[in-house]
Amino acid sequence: MSAECIFCRIAAGALPAVKIYEDADTLAFLDIGPIVKGHALVIPRQHYDPITQTPEPVLARLMAVVKKIAQAQMNGLRADGVNVIQANGAAAGQMVPHLHFHVIPRYRADGHHWNWAAKKYEQPEEMQRLAAAIQAAL
Ligand code: AMP
Ligand code: ZN
Repeated sequence: MSAECIFCRIAAGALPAVKIYEDADTLAFLDIGPIVKGHALVIPRQHYDPITQTPEPVLARLMAVVKKIAQAQMNGLRADGVNVIQANGAAAGQMVPHLHFHVIPRYRADGHHWNWAAKKYEQPEEMQRLAAAIQAAL
């Protein structure tokens, strides 16, 4: 646990949170700044960050809880859909550097719109080049 990490402090019970699920490894609680009310965060109790430094068994356990919370938002809050979001690094909009998945209940008329500004590849070769660069690094 890191004393400065707010999610470590929540996991240790040193900071309050509105918890909705917990087990030996994982905790889910409501985000204090919901995009849509009922917006939850799923975190490992242990401090990991970013996703690329997190062991796969930890990710597998987290994802099982993400699925459980998404289903509970649909059944318990009558959500029409759910967004699952996870940020790595400030460039990606991450504010809290302790791995977490946002699980956000969505409604047909919830009024939230992502600023999803889709671009275009000018040349098909550019798309091929980027795909090759990613593949070469796998
Ligand atoms: P991210 O930008 O992915 O790092 O998101 C961090 C999220 O943590 C934000 O949506 C915040 O509203 C949320 N947050 C920060 N502090 C707390 C807290 N003490 N309890 C619950 N949620 C928090
Ligand atoms: Zn932490």
